[in-house]
Amino acid sequence: MSSGQIQRLTTLARSLILAGLMLGVGTLAICKEWVSGIVWPEPAVIDPGPVGGPPSDAVVLFDGKDLSQWDGGDKWVVENGIVSPRGGDIRTKDSFGDCQLHLEWASPEMVVGTSQQRGNSGVFLGNQYEVQILDSYDNKTYFDGQAAALYKTKPPLVNACRKPGEWQTYDIIYNAPRFNEHGTIVKPGYLTVLHNGVLVQNHTEILGETAYEFPPILKPHERAPIRLQFHGNPVKYRNIWLREIPEPDPVRPE
Ligand code: MG
Repeated sequence: MSSGQIQRLTTLARSLILAGLMLGVGTLAICKEWVSGIVWPEPAVIDPGPVGGPPSDAVVLFDGKDLSQWDGGDKWVVENGIVSPRGGDIRTKDSFGDCQLHLEWASPEMVVGTSQQRGNSGVFLGNQYEVQILDSYDNKTYFDGQAAALYKTKPPLVNACRKPGEWQTYDIIYNAPRFNEHGTIVKPGYLTVLHNGVLVQNHTEILGETAYEFPPILKPHERAPIRLQFHGNPVKYRNIWLREIPEPDPVRPE
């Protein structure tokens, strides 16, 4: 390439860069930022903690030591950082509304029973809406009663169950139903569930108390305990924590 050609190419490149810069400046000049006018409070800074572990703003419900955060656990067995149901359900001493709940569970390694009699337990949000815990690894049962079903309301989107004895995670987002002073529902409740990190309930509407023997019945309530079920099977639990969902309170324009 001759020096003349190189000079022409250099001049062309400079012209293109200059045109690009001018176009950018021009765009900036005519582009005015849209602002909502809402004054949002600054989101709190938290420590997310270790993977799977409680963030700094979590309420730790079971850290492997004891059931001091629960009522009814006299017969439950706490051993080696794990707790296992015996004798009856347990309920948190505190009551909660909208929350994010993390828990880890394992069905018994030794497989005993079939269908609903294999590794059955459950976690109840609002003390009455059961996200089923069951050994659903190669274990047929009714679909709205298998692991991660909102019991008798909706089956999980997929069966993400691990093998018996293996640790599994539930991450649950609970939006409690809202009622007015007359007990009429004004905003439905919803559950979103990740089972072993897999979405299995996607903003599923809560239709009412979940039970084996009657259809869902929605009754007015406010904050309520979290409940873990004793269903006769030695399921294991560990690492249970909860975060109440913060609700920003912005200042809105007149
Ligand atoms: Mg159950």
